[in-house]
Amino acid sequence: MTIPQSWDARAKSASFFGFTDFPSINERGTVIVTHGKGPYIYDTEGRSYLDANSGLWNMVAGFDHEGLIAAAKAQFDTFPGYHAFFGRMSDQTVMLSEKLVAVSPFERAKVFYTNSGSEANDTMVKMLWFLNASEGNPQKRKILTRVNGYHGVTVVSASMTGKPYNSVFGLPLDGFIHLGCPHYWRFGAAGETEAEFTARLGRELEETIAREGADTIAGFFAEPVQGAGGVIPPSQGYFQTIVPILKKHGIPLIADEVITGFGRTGEMWGCETYGFTPDAIISSKNLTAGFFPMGAVILGPDLADRLQAAADAIEEFPHGFTASGHPVGCAIALKAIDVIENEGLLENVRSLTPYFEAGLARLAENPNIGEWRGKGLMGALEAVKDKDTKTPFDGSLSVSERIANTCTDHGLLCRPLGQSIVLAPAFIMTEPQMDEMFDKLGAALKQVFAEVG
Ligand code: PMP
Repeated sequence: MTIPQSWDARAKSASFFGFTDFPSINERGTVIVTHGKGPYIYDTEGRSYLDANSGLWNMVAGFDHEGLIAAAKAQFDTFPGYHAFFGRMSDQTVMLSEKLVAVSPFERAKVFYTNSGSEANDTMVKMLWFLNASEGNPQKRKILTRVNGYHGVTVVSASMTGKPYNSVFGLPLDGFIHLGCPHYWRFGAAGETEAEFTARLGRELEETIAREGADTIAGFFAEPVQGAGGVIPPSQGYFQTIVPILKKHGIPLIADEVITGFGRTGEMWGCETYGFTPDAIISSKNLTAGFFPMGAVILGPDLADRLQAAADAIEEFPHGFTASGHPVGCAIALKAIDVIENEGLLENVRSLTPYFEAGLARLAENPNIGEWRGKGLMGALEAVKDKDTKTPFDGSLSVSERIANTCTDHGLLCRPLGQSIVLAPAFIMTEPQMDEMFDKLGAALKQVFAEVG
């Protein structure tokens, strides 16, 4: 008789997990999810979890939004798959592009589709390389990003990502330059004011451009709020400092709005929250409320015109993915934007933000929380061994992982990032659900800090 295997054993034997701590799942097991309801997910073992990260920041309308499911079903019935090559694309794709242009901060724009945020960043880099070469500047290829910036995992977007773990792949590639992270609390020098810190980052940018040569730099990519780097809002005046420098040197600013796009910071776009207009926007995740894999490059007028001219010169743009502009994804995205705009999700982010911030501030009274930070419905609590000196815990203690594991044991999913615990609730979360989130997280903080001393 064969003994039926557990879901955990089956998952481990035939599937390979990314971004997973293997000792931890070997000891604790995996979570195999069967369905979701609102901001909760349910697993094969009958357990339920409040997902404080809305999946990977993306399931902003919850896990079972009826309107989104209906939009997907209707499109599957009508026309379940197509591409956007050879001058053909679905009617849904045309309509989504019009909608994205209308909600973008640009007067005029053009949209190109991918299947993920990583591919959208890769696509943007290829667009810049392509149009620069076409304009007689083939050497204008270097890409500037920031330490703790996260832009994806493909070879180019991983090279853009400012995290040390990519060294195991021999990345970054040459020509990807990581500038300072605009996190004043962590990187401000002793006695330096926040304004002085921001000015220092501006000088670093000026000096980098002078050293490398503006004619070798294709673009500067930045998340309005760094997300997977640990929820790091920019220091005061950051974008107001760097935007004029980039403009002066003719370096396009690309806003990676994969997390911040579609409402996360309380405005449609993070660049609106921070009062600047980029040259292009990278979008994904809540573009489809997480219901379909899709990414988009939204080119503002200048880059759109220059890309079109470069393509006209050789009669095509030799780039695209099989599922670019997939009609089901586009139908879902059209509905997702409608839900965010017209079902009160944006208002919910705005009205819940003070409640969310108050909860973070309350937990930050814990002597082992060095700071809370956030914008809109994305926030982080940073664990420290010593609050006054901001000394982190010894990495071998895995403090944030222990906090997240303790939360998981009590039915709350939150994400450890470095020594921070990150929260990014769905836009449909209620105040009682937020209470549950903060109660469970607060209890886990107490327990783990007591254990590690
Ligand atoms: N950019 C940002 C800002 C992101 O947060 C992410 C994903 N977390 C990506 C790009 C990559 O997106 P994907 O995982 O869809 O490739």
